[in-house]
Amino acid sequence: MARYIFVTGGVVSSLGKGLSSASLAYLLQSRGFKVRLRKLDPYLNVDPGTMSPFQHGEVFVTDDGAETDLDLGHYERFSGVTAKITDNITSGKIYSDVLRKERKGQYLGKTVQVIPHITDRIKEFIKHDTSKEDFVICEIGGIVGDIESLPFVEAIRQFSNDIGKKNALFIHLTLVPYLKASDEIKTKPTQHSVKELRSIGIQPDIIICRSERPIPLDHRKKISLFCNVDIKNVIETVDVKTIYEAPISFFNQKLDIQVLNYFKLKSKKPANLKPWKKITKITLNTKRHVNIAIIGKYVELKDAYKSLDEALTHGGISNNLKVNLVRIDSEKLKVSEIKNKLKNVSGILIPGGFGKRGTEGKIEAIRYARINKIPFLGICYGMQMAIIEFARNQLKIKKATSSEFDKRGVHIIGLMHEWEKSGRKVKGTDKDLGGTMRLGSYDAILKDKSKIRDIYKSRLIKERHRHRYEVDISYKEKFEKKGLIFSGLSPDHKLPEIIELKNHPCFIGVQFHPEFKSRPLNPHPLFSSFIKAAKNHR
Ligand code: GLN
Repeated sequence: MARYIFVTGGVVSSLGKGLSSASLAYLLQSRGFKVRLRKLDPYLNVDPGTMSPFQHGEVFVTDDGAETDLDLGHYERFSGVTAKITDNITSGKIYSDVLRKERKGQYLGKTVQVIPHITDRIKEFIKHDTSKEDFVICEIGGIVGDIESLPFVEAIRQFSNDIGKKNALFIHLTLVPYLKASDEIKTKPTQHSVKELRSIGIQPDIIICRSERPIPLDHRKKISLFCNVDIKNVIETVDVKTIYEAPISFFNQKLDIQVLNYFKLKSKKPANLKPWKKITKITLNTKRHVNIAIIGKYVELKDAYKSLDEALTHGGISNNLKVNLVRIDSEKLKVSEIKNKLKNVSGILIPGGFGKRGTEGKIEAIRYARINKIPFLGICYGMQMAIIEFARNQLKIKKATSSEFDKRGVHIIGLMHEWEKSGRKVKGTDKDLGGTMRLGSYDAILKDKSKIRDIYKSRLIKERHRHRYEVDISYKEKFEKKGLIFSGLSPDHKLPEIIELKNHPCFIGVQFHPEFKSRPLNPHPLFSSFIKAAKNHR
């Protein structure tokens, strides 16, 4: 039977519960155990798919087509375990499931209540499809004390009772602040947060204390005493210089060992920290760098392109250099400024996006990259914009556009049903924004002797999608005659998946999101090759 580890947070949010959970998952896996990671989000959106990246950061997409919280990206990148649709749930989804059942009369006339109906549904979610795991790590979003998270905390309390306390472990992550003025480390917020947790029936077994500086033994003893936790289970996590140090730091603090001790389990093999040490060293010591411009709408919010930033960093690691991200707000990018703004960059990336705002700046930047032979990578929306640029300036279809933002003009990008061509299907209906996209992993076949085939070193690839619009395949020949090759297609040859420019060192557009599958210990070939091209650019 699986053992369940619940990770809650206290004092403030953004302490790194996701990274802590993911690091623990890596350590347990590396010791020979099978691990699954799950995230329980307290907000009422059914999934984060319709939330603005400004509000919630990136939407992470799984192979099986779920739009999930960005923490699932951390989980995948650190643990290497591919997340599934069933690994992320929100209060919204829980409530909608329960209410749907209620409408169907499945509660047989009973009064439907938070306890037991909502909590039962949460417990079902936690347990679902975990029988083959050694450990299931469940992170509860938000912090203890939030009104929204109460049903989740209550559910995990019940869950530990149901399966027996020896099979469930509670980890609480808190902040131990340092006050500069008095040169003191303060344990009181942790004490209060644990008190809050205990008031709803949960005694933490391990406390992870996030701190700017090492926490002296005296202070850890105080936390142990006041919070009723064994001193060995008061684990400090001091800010690391790069996130790749996190697994090393938790290993040094013996977090994994304390978890195994709790469950009375022995490590099956020693933990392997070598790969993390190697990439930490590269990340911290490398002096060489390349500047890569990301031109997008959400550049002001750090987490809005989380997987993309990570994937570019991974590309840097595989080329032994640092990637400096030059974030350019596409809405503020004036056509006249492009040359000046891009003069010091060795690569230009246009990420995924939605809607009209900022498109003209992006299209002009792509033209600049094409003409000046600057390495270019267009992702999803970025590929669509590259198609529009080429159609307008090379095929001389001046009104080339996408039906996403211009109802008139020539729709080289459009919805599949708009073209009414046979054999093309679009998921869901247009009424419900949550269900109209091509989501999740799809196959693509790569053209022989193309650059992309060289990069992937494979004919068949599987990549994750998240978009409504497609490039109209009927223009393929026209583009190819002018040197823009459709070098990746869906297996039925109806949907363009990849474009590349002949006679350019690196000009690639992809309809999917390769960033979701890049991992620090296994950088994605597309990002490695893009950064390599940028390195060779000057
Ligand atoms: N807005 C575009 C579409 O829906 C691109 C989406 C994206 O970049 N993820 O097709």
